[in-house]
Amino acid sequence: MSYKAEYIWIDGTLPTAKLRSKTKIVETGAEPPLWGFDGSSTNQADGRSSDCVLKPVFTCPDPLRGGADALVLCEVLDTDLSPHASNTRAELREVAERFAAQEPLFGIEQEYTFFRGSRPLGFPENGFPAPQGGYYCGVGADEIFGREVVEAHLDNCLKAGLGLSGINAEVMPGQWEFQVGPLGPLQVADQLWVARWLLYRTAEDFGVSATLDPKPAKGDWNGAGAHTNFSTRRMREGYEAIVAACEALGEGDKPLTHVRAYGAGVESRLTGAHETAPWDEYSYGVSDRGASVRIPWQVEKDGKGYIEDRRPNANVDPYVVTRLMVDTCCAALEKAGLD
Ligand code: ADP
Ligand code: MN
Ligand code: MN
Ligand code: MN
Repeated sequence: MSYKAEYIWIDGTLPTAKLRSKTKIVETGAEPPLWGFDGSSTNQADGRSSDCVLKPVFTCPDPLRGGADALVLCEVLDTDLSPHASNTRAELREVAERFAAQEPLFGIEQEYTFFRGSRPLGFPENGFPAPQGGYYCGVGADEIFGREVVEAHLDNCLKAGLGLSGINAEVMPGQWEFQVGPLGPLQVADQLWVARWLLYRTAEDFGVSATLDPKPAKGDWNGAGAHTNFSTRRMREGYEAIVAACEALGEGDKPLTHVRAYGAGVESRLTGAHETAPWDEYSYGVSDRGASVRIPWQVEKDGKGYIEDRRPNANVDPYVVTRLMVDTCCAALEKAGLD
């Protein structure tokens, strides 16, 4: 007896990595073993020494195949079993371990856009749909495009046991969001990558593609982000740590260091319009959807909770944004005795 294990990994495509996967038949009862692939076809090796290693790090039920079949998210290693240059998870592992005692949690809001052919779903063959206004959390065939795909994706994520906390229709037609978390840094990032893979895979069956392009339609249309909500135990207990985390993100070269790692094309989305702050100006504020970092009104009212970094692009690497936020905020909280 055997089961099908779909090995999923992140490739070396620049500036934005792509997901890849292939199937291994594994004996029932056995854990998915180390495996390999041709790195010269994924921008991870040259043809003369093309072997890369897949190391399973997160396994969950495969909701598409069902039964005992599994999805197996992997880290990519070199043949000496050290992390491959494209392996951003390995760097997060170290930082997450160093600050584990602060119990960081993340909730990431993944926005994305469906396309059929070269147009966003809901955009007519010629011209444009009615301007933004009615689509966000809308209802009805004149405003909603792709709900059947969204529902199937949500069901698949829940069947896989992923920690999704909600979905909603977004501001532009064909644009949607799902939220993963709150979860620890490695968990949220692993599960977001698997949820992205399930999004592409689910949409495939409907003849639709999904993109994380941060600015899928030029002009007066919202971009697509990945707002990253963050807290530590002390932030969940009091307001002083909330303010300290917001200040830490604004210190010295932190704003630019963060923004540059928040996804290719981030300047095209963080224009200062469409519910964004300009990419080169750091700010934070309560309820402010035009700030880089927002403190939700409920958090100010309760005097504790979490902050929302609104800058990350939809195409951000969750291993990178969580590492930077833990590194910047937890180090500052430690220094301030708020750890
Ligand atoms: P928005 O109003 O910005 O659209 P959402 O409801 O889409 O907010 O997303 C809020 C996110 O914040 C969710 O993913 C949720 O899991 C996350 N979240 C809630 N509490 C915390 C917390 N204490 N720490 C980190 N993330 C949190
Ligand atoms: Mn949201
Ligand atoms: Mn949103
Ligand atoms: Mn948000």
